[in-house]
Amino acid sequence: MTQMPINMDHHWMPFTNNRLFHQEPQMFEKAKGVRYWTPEGREVLDGSSGLFTCAAGHGRPEIAEAVYSQLQTLDYTPHFQRASANSFELAEKLAGILPEGLDRVFFASSGSEAVDSAIKICMAYHKAKGEPQRTKFVSRSWGYHGVNLGGTSLAGMVGNRRDFGGVTVDVVHMRHTWSEEQRYTCGQPESGAHLADDLEEICKTYGGETIAAVFVEPIAGSIGTIVPPVGYLKRLREIADKYGILLVFDEVITGFGRTGEAFAAQEFGVTPDVMTMAKALTNGTIPMSAVAVKTEIQQAIFDSILADRPELMHGYTYSAHPVACAAALATLGIYEKDGLFARGRALSPTFLDAVFSLRNLPQVSDLRGYGMMSGIQLTPGATPGAKGSLVQRKLFDAGLHVKATGDALIFAPPLVTEEGDLGAMVDILQKVLGQVE
Ligand code: PLP
Repeated sequence: MTQMPINMDHHWMPFTNNRLFHQEPQMFEKAKGVRYWTPEGREVLDGSSGLFTCAAGHGRPEIAEAVYSQLQTLDYTPHFQRASANSFELAEKLAGILPEGLDRVFFASSGSEAVDSAIKICMAYHKAKGEPQRTKFVSRSWGYHGVNLGGTSLAGMVGNRRDFGGVTVDVVHMRHTWSEEQRYTCGQPESGAHLADDLEEICKTYGGETIAAVFVEPIAGSIGTIVPPVGYLKRLREIADKYGILLVFDEVITGFGRTGEAFAAQEFGVTPDVMTMAKALTNGTIPMSAVAVKTEIQQAIFDSILADRPELMHGYTYSAHPVACAAALATLGIYEKDGLFARGRALSPTFLDAVFSLRNLPQVSDLRGYGMMSGIQLTPGATPGAKGSLVQRKLFDAGLHVKATGDALIFAPPLVTEEGDLGAMVDILQKVLGQVE
């Protein structure tokens, strides 16, 4: 049967060169395990777990069945003053795998929403503790925390804005942690912990008592996997404590086994006050994210609000959507039943060896990796990002899906990848990288 040509005029694709895509569409039609298939039936290995979402591989029947069953039973619950039981069950399950002390969970639908929610929770906490002047935030150069902050600035309902300072978020950036001498470091660089002292400098410059929170990705993912130097996160923790600043780990990519533990916080032995997560929470199947906070953060906010009021004037129509909760519960069930976090840890040395076998290619200028995530930095061409985009398209044609950011490829296959498939993925990388100028 001949397929109707697709009219691509109307869907404005995100983070995409739409005009190029219309000329040379790269489409997926089916997925199973670590494979996608194009509409022409061509196989494409999944070297980025979708978008770091599908840690347990694609097409898991356990999730499909849970979602179908939930849709038939209770397709939607408003979560403002109403609830479905599986949201509490999910929050309890998450509390069981989160670092000790982080056991209060707020749900949203995307990583960006989780980050926005975390910003507001941090502000609400300081206000509750009698420090409403803490409205400044610190994050890091090269960090990625989603795209949603503008929504709050635009919000016009005074009750939803009043508690959140100037609304436009005031941010000061620390330096990123990459440096020349780290090139081709596998795992954590030995030097660079002193870069955390940027937080102290910022406290001295702006007044630590004006800062609400410092947000970092424990491993900076989207920029191309920048692994924190030994001692860096611990140092951030110490400085944050010294100045009464909340430490927020954005674990949207690093969560759910990517580093070998449930969360990077446990892997690196540093407990944040607040943590965001999304993506692999539902194995990518249904949009869902969460913010976990320490008990005392929630308690302080609760204690500061009159008993007849909602404690936080914030939430989404799809917060704790029952179908997303069902998908997340089934996903956590798979992680536990199949021991996937341990599997990722066991596979990591083979994975990192395979990545570092690309070291001698002239097109590669740096390699970085930890757990089951890696960054392959390409030697830059005349226009920054052009080579990354070209290589990404060529890889697709050669049978490998990998996310590119600028001139970095972020290679992070599902935790269920077999060694044979891993070898096939790296062979494709070798071949394609060998073909570009
Ligand atoms: N935070 C981090 C660390 C991310 O990597 C991402 C997305 O890649 C986000 C937030 C935003 O998530 P979303 O695209 O689901 O809004």
